[in-house]
Amino acid sequence: MDLKGMIREVQDFPKEGISFKDITTILSDKDALRYVIDQMADQLEDMDIDVIVGPEARGFIVGTPVAYKLGKAFVPIRKPGKLPAETVKYEYELEYGTDALEIHKDAIKPGMKVAILDDLLATGGTVLAAAKLIEGLGGTVVSLNFLIELSFLKGRETLKDYNVKTLVSYD
Ligand code: AMP
Repeated sequence: MDLKGMIREVQDFPKEGISFKDITTILSDKDALRYVIDQMADQLEDMDIDVIVGPEARGFIVGTPVAYKLGKAFVPIRKPGKLPAETVKYEYELEYGTDALEIHKDAIKPGMKVAILDDLLATGGTVLAAAKLIEGLGGTVVSLNFLIELSFLKGRETLKDYNVKTLVSYD
């Protein structure tokens, strides 16, 4: 399937100079949606994992159906203040200022093997923060899986200690 042809590119969104990769055009096509979830699940099929973790919001969209398909659990990672029970937080640097992510403290048990899924790998900062949260709770990150990779942003360098897989890459 020509996934690249199905991903809508919106120029200058959310700000000038950004070419936004819009996956809603994949989600709204039943065959493309099934294909993407099946492909992402295939990449994990032979791996020993206990749980899939996805950062909000598009990590939920790809992560939960892949978890369902593999018969695994799903754990969300969210922006601060969204998760209701006791959380741990990881703060990370942006170009200007900082951002933070949270996970429920009881969601990852020591020794759990985790795959993190998200729609898109840009700089890798988001998923690195997610990995640090999981490791802080004693989990092991065995795989990072994305639908799209913006390879010119060199996210793989940021994530060099991890096993990274993507379906579509933009140079
Ligand atoms: P990063 O932490 O830099 O790897 O950014 C990753 C997150 O930002 C992903 O979860 C994407 O949803 C979003 N993102 C960054 N750049 C783009 C882009 N060009 N098009 C669509 N989403 C993007």
